[in-house]
Amino acid sequence: MSVSFADVEAAAGRIAGIAHRTPVLTSRTADARTGATLFFKAEPLQRAGAFKFRGACNAIAALSPEQRTRGVLAFSSGNHAQAIAYAGALQGVPTVIVMPHDAPAIKVAATRGYGAEIVPYDRYKEDREAVSRRIAEERGLSVIPPYDHPDVIAGQGTAVKELIEEVGPLDVLLVCLGGGGLLAGSCLAARALSPEVEIWGVEPEAGNDGQQSLAKGEVVRIPVPVSIADGALTTHLGQHTFPIIQREAAGIVTATDAQLVSAMRFFVERMKLVVEPTGCLAAAAAFEGAVPVKGKRVGVILSGGNVDPAALARHLAA
Ligand SMILES: *Cc1c(COP(=O)(O)O)cnc(C)c1O
Repeated sequence: MSVSFADVEAAAGRIAGIAHRTPVLTSRTADARTGATLFFKAEPLQRAGAFKFRGACNAIAALSPEQRTRGVLAFSSGNHAQAIAYAGALQGVPTVIVMPHDAPAIKVAATRGYGAEIVPYDRYKEDREAVSRRIAEERGLSVIPPYDHPDVIAGQGTAVKELIEEVGPLDVLLVCLGGGGLLAGSCLAARALSPEVEIWGVEPEAGNDGQQSLAKGEVVRIPVPVSIADGALTTHLGQHTFPIIQREAAGIVTATDAQLVSAMRFFVERMKLVVEPTGCLAAAAAFEGAVPVKGKRVGVILSGGNVDPAALARHLAA
């Protein structure tokens, strides 16, 4: 099943009134530093603190009444879990979350707080998809994956739809990249609403499977990367996300952990905004010149703000 801009539009209708229409922020300091006009889409201010709420809401809203009664299962390193738990709670659907045992404490606590049942697994020893499949089969739950699902991709595309509707056509769009749900959805929305836009994915330098995949022309799998960008520690793009990215993206660039910390500091100091390390990937590409932006109108997705306060303090003090 392929996914198109019509699906993004349908998702926007389904999530209206449930998901926030997040603000678009600007910064004269950031513009002066890059020579560009930057538009930051502030998904740290989305419900549950990240864009993942959009895809989760859309995927749950698209289920049949019978599937909703039985409940849904999600496997996630954090933000997708919180999004599913919260979207499920708001729509009266029970949720089970399969989470790595070493997921950030703030994310585990928040997910439980939304009323989800948590099943931990060891991400270095067990295959989360196999664990999830077994539990879902036993209990008759619908699995909603974090990125490789048409309804999830369509939901994630609503952020860029809002951004371009608000600020007009863009020359460049920078989007962080894990498994590619956000980038694929962003590609669909951006190509439809600003056809000439150049779209770039940005992933952690330590986990550049997306970059390798584009170079090779097929999905490349890598070992679990080690980076502070804990929302983008995916090992491969998806069967739904890769073809869209391959068709629409100009390319994929990377950011180092040090560059992410520097961007986090900028957002706290200058824009009074907490952006988690993964959420800084796209901004880091603009700040560090990984993608040429001078003289251009540039959309930058700040994807989420869920970082442990203690970890944030450590990063800022370093
Ligand atoms: C999940 C996530 C990403 C990566 O999204 P994909 O759809 O997997 O590419 C980026 N930033 C944050 C904050 C996330 O939670």
